[in-house]
Amino acid sequence: MVMTLDSDIKFLKGVGEKRAQLLAKELNIVDVRGLLYYFPFRYIDRSRIYSIGEITEDTATFVQIRVRVEGFRLIGERAKRRFIAEVCDPSGRAELVWFKGINWIQKKLRPGDEIIAFGRANIFNGKLSIVHPEVESPFKLPDRSVDSSVQGVYSTTERLNDNGLGTKAIYKLVCLMWPQVEHLIEETLPEWLIEKMGLVSLRTALYEVHFPRSQQALERARLRLKFEELLGVQLQILSLKNHRIKVCRGYCFSKIGEKFNGFYSRRLPFSLTEAQKRVIREIRADMGSGRQMNRLLQGDVGSGKTMVALMTMLIAVDNGFQCSLMAPTEILATQHYKSICEQLGDVDVKVELLTGSTKNRDRADIQARLAAGQIDILIGTHALIEDVVQYKNLGYVVIDEQHRFGVEQRSRLWSKGAEYLPHVLVMTATPIPRTLAMTLYGDLSVSVIDELPPGRKPVKTLHFAEGARMKVNAFLRSEIDSGRQVYVVYPLIKGSEKLDYKNLEDGAEMLADEFPPPRYVTSVVHGKMKPAEKEYGMRLFVKGETNIMIATSVIEVGVNVPNATVMVIESAERFGLAQLHQLRGRVGRGSEQSYCILMTKDGLSSDSRKRIEAMTRTTDGFEIAELDLKLRGPGDLMGTQQSGLAFEFKIASLAKDGQVLELARSVAEQILARDPELAAPENEKLSELKRKYSVAHSADFSMIS
Ligand code: ADP
Ligand code: MG
Repeated sequence: MVMTLDSDIKFLKGVGEKRAQLLAKELNIVDVRGLLYYFPFRYIDRSRIYSIGEITEDTATFVQIRVRVEGFRLIGERAKRRFIAEVCDPSGRAELVWFKGINWIQKKLRPGDEIIAFGRANIFNGKLSIVHPEVESPFKLPDRSVDSSVQGVYSTTERLNDNGLGTKAIYKLVCLMWPQVEHLIEETLPEWLIEKMGLVSLRTALYEVHFPRSQQALERARLRLKFEELLGVQLQILSLKNHRIKVCRGYCFSKIGEKFNGFYSRRLPFSLTEAQKRVIREIRADMGSGRQMNRLLQGDVGSGKTMVALMTMLIAVDNGFQCSLMAPTEILATQHYKSICEQLGDVDVKVELLTGSTKNRDRADIQARLAAGQIDILIGTHALIEDVVQYKNLGYVVIDEQHRFGVEQRSRLWSKGAEYLPHVLVMTATPIPRTLAMTLYGDLSVSVIDELPPGRKPVKTLHFAEGARMKVNAFLRSEIDSGRQVYVVYPLIKGSEKLDYKNLEDGAEMLADEFPPPRYVTSVVHGKMKPAEKEYGMRLFVKGETNIMIATSVIEVGVNVPNATVMVIESAERFGLAQLHQLRGRVGRGSEQSYCILMTKDGLSSDSRKRIEAMTRTTDGFEIAELDLKLRGPGDLMGTQQSGLAFEFKIASLAKDGQVLELARSVAEQILARDPELAAPENEKLSELKRKYSVAHSADFSMIS
């Protein structure tokens, strides 16, 4: 049989039927290519020996130490039985621990032995321990079938580990594989590009990524592999974008008319910020281009996105089209409706509100007028698309707080348009870092409002531990006494034995004691309440009838209560950065100085500390989003879960490889500018590369094209 990269993994020497099944099940590795592209997730420099004293939590997770065995202890019963070897070097002492294979290791080690132990470092109570280390005598350094001092660490699963396929066994498999497959690896990038970019060949890259001969060689290998992945995605996304620009014609809103001008000259209550003006110009240019607009508008909370929505809707109305503005919640839709009606004043535009609680009779009436073209702007919630709502000529759709809308729901909007798809503006206050936006929304246009209206005072953010509780309460009292409102947010509704965090139930009790009625009145809103109850609690607070809002993070999105000046976040360490930032955005919406108070326990983990520090240091949403991406990875970022990355990178990381991504994007742009269909013979390989990412993407982009 001739081996190819597509051959079943079981045909590799050293694998066999049983391991093949395990690899397929646990790691989704089914063919030779799968193993060849199963890269180490980290590397250890096996030429380096640490001294015990220099190992701290921050130095390295995997370490190699050269120690003398001092003595043994066997402790615990049955499942908890473990064997501990006490070891030391001149700089300190450590413990090597075994839960399994105790008999074997007992025979192998003798007190007084000099050994090299290698494994994951644990620091507990200041003492180093390594569980299940690899142990060798110093005179027999690990055998190296490959000349590499940097050794790859492959991730494995518990099940694989139990079946003899731990990290080291996988490494050995890869070693065995290499000579069998090396000659099968074919270059995937065109020669001209490799040369132009100064990249290493695919074969070299794959070799070096598994068995790096040096740190530099490893870097070059990783760069080549990352670049290839990111280039493939960018070629795909940019082709789609180019295609859409060519194919998707849209309504042409050519004129600026009396509604827009009337509003602008008579009703606009403030002067627009430069950023708002720029974004309105960008949208206007899109709408007048004859192509359908698909634009993402990012702007921090309070940056004035709604005004941009309103003014661009007026352009649509001036051109004889209907618009709809969709909000994630009923409260928010109602708030938009009220403020837009008020702002429009006598400008002759028909605005209606349609939500889940619109009465049936009104609903029928609205629907009839909508179909007859007697309504210009329809504001609402999901009900707008869940109902059979027929427009006469829908030309423009604005979606507020996009991440609350599924792709599925958005796609339903598109069918409402008659001749063309309506223009679409998606607004979000969730700052999406550039690298992520480029990949997720690579084929949408992006506008950013990066400026707050003048006179806003940035929210002051302070961090306290439990000891400052009295002080914080006194501060809340003084704010409320001077007529303002406060939020107190909890991570949990009820107490939990497992999680040591503050909860809303206890908190509400404490606050009731500290802040008794009638002077102090509280609203409570959390996720377990019925929508109507939530709306009720929210509404009282919006109207100023309650002055303390006790809530979970459900209040994170959208509502505007300019009189609320303090946001207290209990057990703030429990929240992600993006979430903390969203919550903070609920205050600082009026002219008074606002505060965000982060309460945490003492003794935070290093990640929690970084998050809290970032919050107290900056109010810049993009800076926070970048850091969030670094700390958590893109999958967790709010707003990306549902759109998700439709493909998986083997090696590139959106969080860390921003530069490579931008490089790949500009290279892809240049290539496509010269050869849009990748039809030239010298681009044949690129066309194949692009195709690899097309299946993965089609689901996500079907709604756009
Ligand atoms: P967001 O971008 O969070 O949706 P909003 O549109 O709700 O922000 O705007 C927040 C507040 O700022 C609103 O009360 C709005 O009227 C006000 N606002 C918007 N633009 C300006 C501006 N250029 N100057 C002053 N206030 C503004
Ligand atoms: Mg808003």
